[in-house]
Amino acid sequence: MAIKRFKALEKVLSRKAIKIKFPKGKISDYFGINVFDKKKMQKYLSKQAYKHIISAIESGKKIDRKMANQIAMGMKSWAMDKNATHYTHWFQPLNDATAEKHDAFFNINKEREVFESFDGELLVQQESDASSLPSGGIRNTFEARGYTAWDPSSPAFIVDKTLCIPTIFVSYTGEALDYKTPLLKANQILDEAAVKVCQFFDKNVKKVTSMLGCEQEYFLIDKALYLSRPDLILTERTLVGHSSAKDQQLNDHYFSSIPERVSSYMKELEIEAYKLGIPLKTRHNEVAPNQFECAPIFEETNLANDHNQLLMDTMKKLAHRHNFVVLFHEKPYKEINGSGKHCNWSLKTNTGINLLSPSKNTKLNLQFIVFLVNTIKAVYENADLLRASIVSHGNEHRLGGNEAPPSIISIFLGKQLTKILDNIENQIGGTDLNSKEDKIKKLNIEKIPEILLDNTDRNRTSPFAFTGNRFEFRAVGSSANCAAPMIVLNAAVANQLNKFAEKVEFLISKNRKKNDAIFEVLKEYISVSKKIRFEGDGYSEDWVSEAKKRGLNNIKNVPEALKYYINEKTINLFENQNILSKRELQARYEIRLEKFIKNIQIESRILGDLSVNHIIPIAIKYQNFLIKNLKGLKDLFGDEISEEIKNNSLKTIKQISVHILEINKKVDKMIKFRKEANSLKNIEEKAKKYSKNVKVFLNKIRYHADKLEMIIEDEMWTLPKYRELLFTR
Ligand code: ADP
Ligand code: MG
Repeated sequence: MAIKRFKALEKVLSRKAIKIKFPKGKISDYFGINVFDKKKMQKYLSKQAYKHIISAIESGKKIDRKMANQIAMGMKSWAMDKNATHYTHWFQPLNDATAEKHDAFFNINKEREVFESFDGELLVQQESDASSLPSGGIRNTFEARGYTAWDPSSPAFIVDKTLCIPTIFVSYTGEALDYKTPLLKANQILDEAAVKVCQFFDKNVKKVTSMLGCEQEYFLIDKALYLSRPDLILTERTLVGHSSAKDQQLNDHYFSSIPERVSSYMKELEIEAYKLGIPLKTRHNEVAPNQFECAPIFEETNLANDHNQLLMDTMKKLAHRHNFVVLFHEKPYKEINGSGKHCNWSLKTNTGINLLSPSKNTKLNLQFIVFLVNTIKAVYENADLLRASIVSHGNEHRLGGNEAPPSIISIFLGKQLTKILDNIENQIGGTDLNSKEDKIKKLNIEKIPEILLDNTDRNRTSPFAFTGNRFEFRAVGSSANCAAPMIVLNAAVANQLNKFAEKVEFLISKNRKKNDAIFEVLKEYISVSKKIRFEGDGYSEDWVSEAKKRGLNNIKNVPEALKYYINEKTINLFENQNILSKRELQARYEIRLEKFIKNIQIESRILGDLSVNHIIPIAIKYQNFLIKNLKGLKDLFGDEISEEIKNNSLKTIKQISVHILEINKKVDKMIKFRKEANSLKNIEEKAKKYSKNVKVFLNKIRYHADKLEMIIEDEMWTLPKYRELLFTR
């Protein structure tokens, strides 16, 4: 049974901040103590094994069996020294959670002697009967085996006495069933393509790494309040609830002082994160009441994403200790800002250059423009796929809601860069291309750093914004696995860079000077991809019509957006680069459709339950109270009672009846549509039906429930109200 509202509120008011124990010393003294990082490897591995693993991490090459055994021994000794008892392969299946199955280190031999063991075999690969994890039809239950295989580029770590080894997860037939496998492939392909392009500028560049920093937004809610809202428990969002008289309109939460209980939670979270090697750097209150954000220092994309997944897991677990529940849902509350996860993305060379950072050096600035323009072109070419990569039942409520990036993918560059790209587009070309004058000088490219330093203009309404030395993909949802958008982005940019290199090389082979060739291709790309650039207010209605004129898509619902996962262009992009096959894409498509359907189904069921079993009975109770009151008045005053007073009471009594009737009718209809949808075999059809016919009832029913909330006596209302959910802690 759910906790009753006033009981819950009393509980919240009696809470105090949990006292936390700070580890001794500075953060750098305990940072990574639970990680088998380079320092520990050096200590626990032979010189040879250490060299081997480091070179495998750097080159992405396989580790041979003999070495794997040695590494496993070292890892085990370290884990034992840390009192670990179990180990697990830790992976990211397509259900958007992390998965782990723990096995104890201990073993028993024939003589029934007990000992601890762990070898290279167990480290490198494991077979798992993970038949309940989503596979999109890739695995049938009769061949349910899947394999997890070690990813040495993400270090093992210990959580709660269990050694966790980051792994990929593939089917018996070798298809990827997780996020990590295609991400690692996309990173590798991007590395090769970017190196090729860097070679035009600097022969010393041998490796380019994609970097990611995820800003994680989240809501906190007291556990007692959470437990008194069945909708939150089952769906992580409130399906009913009238908006609070005050919510975020005063903007008094953003960056304000952090409440004590929250601050204590954040501090303990940081301690736990540091021990796990997650470099959390920033914490603050976000725009909505009870909404917060934390952000780490950016890292290599695969590692950053593992860290984000591990962080989310840690956040959930730790919240309980502080009597909170953390909500990662993109839109827990109606009419209040939702939560996103801005993915800050850049490219770094082995020579220490950020390819998306303007530089003081003219040659590097041209290189910067090349990577900037290629990224713009890649986003332009794959905007719909990028949109598909971030869509979900939760994010659907957020995008286009005038508080988050719109559903239309566009890029913001800022005035100065826009001008530079416009100059390249307009000035160079035709005969101009052969002029003697130095193009770089003429276009003021050498002056970029100075200009950009002067101008840190930001556009918070853009889904994909350039922010000085990186792009910030702001449309990603707070609950997302960032690998989904990063796989698409990196695959798209890799493909684009390869085309660019090919074209430039072709022109050079036709005796064009290198810089002239580069400019010519840039000019073409800038012109072709111009449509995706937008500097104005992304929340405005004007942009919606302007985007339409430009031919940019404004895809608002999940099934429609997901279709771009399986169109020919996407299949070519991924198959040609060996990142995902058609079958794997189809599987991903189906898994995400299925997830969408199930989530709407759950929301619809719980709203039906809330309506019929909570809200309507309360409404009837209050209505009876009013009827009794009116009858009493009549008894007391007889005909003396004025028509106005009588009608006023009758009006409210009638209003309640109308809302009850409407809720009942709509719940019935919703159930009918749900049944119809459920009978459909084709998953696409089913998803469409859920989107079109079932989902719409959620708001329709809510409308009446929220009206009732405003009519009915406060004492009778059992579900905590918005003002309580948002302002009590
Ligand atoms: P803001 O809210 O102003 O965008 P934050 O400090 O909240 O800034 O978050 C910025 C995020 O971007 C951090 O995770 C940071 O490490 C990351 N970041 C900074 N520079 C880069 C870069 N070159 N590449 C990728 N991520 C970066
Ligand atoms: Mg940001």
